[in-house]
Amino acid sequence: MAHAGTRVQEHIGDPVSDRPPVSRAKLEEIFDDLQSDLRYDHELNGCLNCGICTATCPAAHYYDFSPREIVQLLWTENLEGIYDAMQEKIWACAQCYTCAARCPFGNSPGGLIMLMRETAIKHGMESAKNVLRPFSRVMLKLVSTGNQLSPDMITKDAFPDWGPNVAKVDAPLKILRKAIPMPTLNTTATAWEVNLKTSVELYTIWEETGVLQQLETIDENLFDVISDIMDEKREELKDWQAEQEEEE
Ligand code: SF4
Ligand code: SF4
Repeated sequence: MAHAGTRVQEHIGDPVSDRPPVSRAKLEEIFDDLQSDLRYDHELNGCLNCGICTATCPAAHYYDFSPREIVQLLWTENLEGIYDAMQEKIWACAQCYTCAARCPFGNSPGGLIMLMRETAIKHGMESAKNVLRPFSRVMLKLVSTGNQLSPDMITKDAFPDWGPNVAKVDAPLKILRKAIPMPTLNTTATAWEVNLKTSVELYTIWEETGVLQQLETIDENLFDVISDIMDEKREELKDWQAEQEEEE
C-alpha cells in the first residue's frame, strides 16, 4: 500500500537510510498499521520534546530507553527509527502509564508503545518472538486449561522447565495474593477448572478477534498444540451435548 501523506515528514526530509533493515515498503506498511489504529491520534497529539515523560518513567531509570525518544520517532514519522525501536526498546516499558499522567500534551507514550507491541506481534517481528518465547508455557496453560494465572500457579510442578528460580516468585506472592478477596485467584484448584462450554466459547472469541492468528505468527508450534487441544475440547463438548439430548 502506498504510504499516505504525513503530517511533518515532508518538512524534515526522508528519514529512511540507503540501506534500511527491511524494505521501505515494509517500513511504510508497519507505520500505516500504527497510524491507522483508532487509538493512535488519541494517544499522540504532538510533542514538545520536553522529556517530562522520560523523567518520570521507571523503565528509563534502568534501561537504555526513553519514552520521549519513542514519541519523537512517531511524531516525526521516522520510519526506520520506529522499526528499530520496535525491535528492541519498546519492550523495556513497564506499562505503568506514569508518562500519560504527566505529559503536558496529553500524549500517552505507554499507550503508543502498547500499539507498537501489538503491531510487532502482528508482523511477526523477531523481537516479539524473543520476548514472548519464555511465556509459551504460560500461554499454553492460559489457553488450554483456564483463563487466568494466579501466583500460586507459578510453581515448580506446573512449570518444570522454568527451573528452581520459580520458587522465588512463588512464595511471597502467594502470601500477598491471599489479601485479595477473590477465591478463584487463590488456587489452581478452582482457577484452572474452567467449564467446558466456557472454554469452547473462549476459543471462538480468540479465533474471531484474531488472537489465535497472532499466536500462529509468533509461535507456530504453540499454535499447533493449542489447536489440537481446542479440537479435542470441541469434540468433548459435542459428545456431552449429544448425551444430554439422549437423556431428555
Ligand atoms: S508506561 Fe512505559 S514509557 Fe510510560 S512511564 Fe511507564 S514504563 Fe515509562
Ligand atoms: S512529556 Fe509529552 S510532550 Fe514531553 S517529551 Fe514526553 S511525550 Fe513529548
